[in-house]
Amino acid sequence: RPLIGVLALQGDVREHSAALEAGGAEVITVRRESELAEVDGLVLPGGESTTISRLLATFDLLDPLRARLAAGLPAYGSCAGLILLAEKVIDGRPDQHQLGGLDVIVRRNAFGRQVDSFEEDLQVTGVDGPPVHAVFIRAPWVESAGPTVEVLARVPDSQAAGAAAGRIVAVRQGNVLATSFHPELTGDARVHRLFVDMVRAAGVRGRTTES
Ligand code: GLN
Repeated sequence: RPLIGVLALQGDVREHSAALEAGGAEVITVRRESELAEVDGLVLPGGESTTISRLLATFDLLDPLRARLAAGLPAYGSCAGLILLAEKVIDGRPDQHQLGGLDVIVRRNAFGRQVDSFEEDLQVTGVDGPPVHAVFIRAPWVESAGPTVEVLARVPDSQAAGAAAGRIVAVRQGNVLATSFHPELTGDARVHRLFVDMVRAAGVRGRTTES
C-alpha cells in the first residue's frame, strides 16, 4: 500500500486520513521534514490558506515541500490546499506563501458571501459511478488553467450554483490533483481513491530512507 501523508497543521486531518485509508492507503500525519521525506504522496487539507502557509514557514516545511513537489511528489489539495498549490492567487493575502506546482490561477473565497457554503452534485472525470456530492465552504474556484491542466469538474448550471455555474472546481496536472470542495466530509472515498491510484501509479520512487 502506498504511504500517504496528510499535512496536519490545520484543517480536517482526521477526515482525510479516514478517506485515504478507505481508498487503500497507509496514512501518516505530516508536521515535520522527516515525515514529509517518508511519504509517497501528500494531501493538503482545507482550512485557511494564509494560516497554513504561515505554519508551513514556522515548521520549516515550506522549502522542503516545494522541493518535493518540484521533484514530482503526488499531491492532492482540497480547498485551501488548492490555493496553496496554485501558481497564482486572486484575492490572496499579501503575506500568503505559495507552494506552486499547479499551473492555475485561483480566486480565493470566489463564491461570494451569499453562497459562503453550498452543495452540488458534480460529474468528476476519473470518478466512476453516480455524481460526487460536493461540499463547498468559502471555496476558491479555478479562474483559469494552463494548457497541460486537465479540467475534471465544473459547477453545473443550477439554482444553487447561480453565478458560479460553469466554474472549474476540480483539476489535475500530472501528479497533482486539486478540488475546490471537500470530499472528505461526505463519506464517499472515490476522490481519495483516485488520488491513491495516482500515487500508486507514480510508484514509491519518492520514498527516501532516513540516513
Ligand atoms: N477560504 C479559505 C482560504 O482562503 C479556504 C476555505 C476552505 O479550505 N474550506 O484559504
